[in-house]
Amino acid sequence: MPKAQGTVLEIDLKALKHNVEFLKSRLQPNTKFLAVVKAFAYGSNSVEVAKYLEELHVDYFAVAYVSEGVVLREAGITTPILVLHPLPESFETIIEHCLEPSLYSHRVLKAFLAIAENKKQTDYPIHLKFNTGLNRLGFSETDIPNILSTLQDVKAIKVSSLFSHLAASEDLKEKEFTLQQIEQFKKIASVIIKGLGYKPMLHQCNTSGILNYPMAHFDMVRSGIGMHGHGNDPKYNSYFKPIATLKTTISQIHILKKGDSLGYNRALIATETVRTATLPIGHADGITRAYGNRKGYVIINNQKAYIIGNVCMDMIMVDVTTIDCNEGDEVIIFGTEYTAEQFSETINSISYEILPAISQRIKRVFYR
Ligand SMILES: *Cc1c(COP(=O)(O)O)cnc(C)c1O
Repeated sequence: MPKAQGTVLEIDLKALKHNVEFLKSRLQPNTKFLAVVKAFAYGSNSVEVAKYLEELHVDYFAVAYVSEGVVLREAGITTPILVLHPLPESFETIIEHCLEPSLYSHRVLKAFLAIAENKKQTDYPIHLKFNTGLNRLGFSETDIPNILSTLQDVKAIKVSSLFSHLAASEDLKEKEFTLQQIEQFKKIASVIIKGLGYKPMLHQCNTSGILNYPMAHFDMVRSGIGMHGHGNDPKYNSYFKPIATLKTTISQIHILKKGDSLGYNRALIATETVRTATLPIGHADGITRAYGNRKGYVIINNQKAYIIGNVCMDMIMVDVTTIDCNEGDEVIIFGTEYTAEQFSETINSISYEILPAISQRIKRVFYR
C-alpha cells in the first residue's frame, strides 16, 4: 500500500491543461475563454491555478468577490479580471486594482459611475449583467432605456461586455427554457448595442453551456468546473480528467467487539466485530456530517470503506472490516477514478459544493 503524507489535496496541472484544451476545442477559433477562478479556484488555489492558466493564455479571469481579485493582482496576475458580484463598498478597491466590475442593477451602476468619475477615469471597463431567467443577479430587459440614458455621454466608464448566466445548461430536459434564455439575451444585446453605438463582447455560457449550447458561445465563454474535470454529465466523463485528488492516511485502527460503540453520541453500536480506521479529516475540512453513518465512502486498497458513526470536527472513522490495510496506509477520499462528483453524490450533493468546501488547513500540492 502506498504511504501518504497526512491529508493533502493534490492538483494535477497537466490534467488542467488537458481540460482547458478540450473545452477550447469546442469553440470557434476566435471565441475567447474566460477562466472562472472564484472560491480559491474551486478549492484548489486561485494564485497557482491562475498563474498556470495565464501561461496557457486564457483571455480573462473571473472571481466572485473583490477580495479574490485583489489576491490575484497582488500575486502578479495581469490578465483582465471580471468580478462577478462586487459590492458597492469595494468599488474604490476595484479601480485601485484594475479589476472589472459586473454591474447588475441601477443602484450599482450609478454607484460605480460616481466613483469612476470621482477617480477621474476614462473608459473604465465595466460589464453589464442581464437576468434572463436565473433570477439571481442582473438587469432586466425593461431596464434598458434607463441604462442607455445613464450611459449617454459618459466618459468615465465603457461597457466591455454584456452577459447573462444560464439556469439549467446541464439539464437537457430544460432545453426549451435555455433556448429561451439565449433568445432573450440576443434580443437584449441587440437593443443595447444599437443604443450604445458600439459592440461590447457577449457571453452567456458556463461549462455545460459550452458543451450543450454551441450556438450561444458568442464572443467568450466562462468555464469553472470543466477546467477541474467535471462535465456535469456522464457522457462527457471520457473527455475530462479530474484534477484534484484528496488523500489522507490511516491514523489508527481499532477493533470493536459486539456491543462496543463508535464515536460521538455512540452513533454506531457494533452488532458483530468491526475493524475501524480513524482518518485525519473531518467536518472542519469540508466532510460534512451528512457523510457519516454509512452514507459516504472512501477508497482504501481499491475497496470501498464506508464512513461510520458521526463525522467529527477533525476526524472520520471508516469500516475496514474486510479491507486489508494498516496504520499509515493511503486513503483516497476522491480523485481521478472515484471522483469528487461520485463522492458528493453519496449525500446528494455536487462537485461544485465539495471542491471549494475543502478547508484551507489542508495542504495543496501541485504537479506539473
Ligand atoms: C461560477 C460561474 C461560472 C462558472 O460555471 P461552471 O459551471 O463552473 O463552468 C460562470 N459564470 C458565472 C456567472 C458564474 O457565477
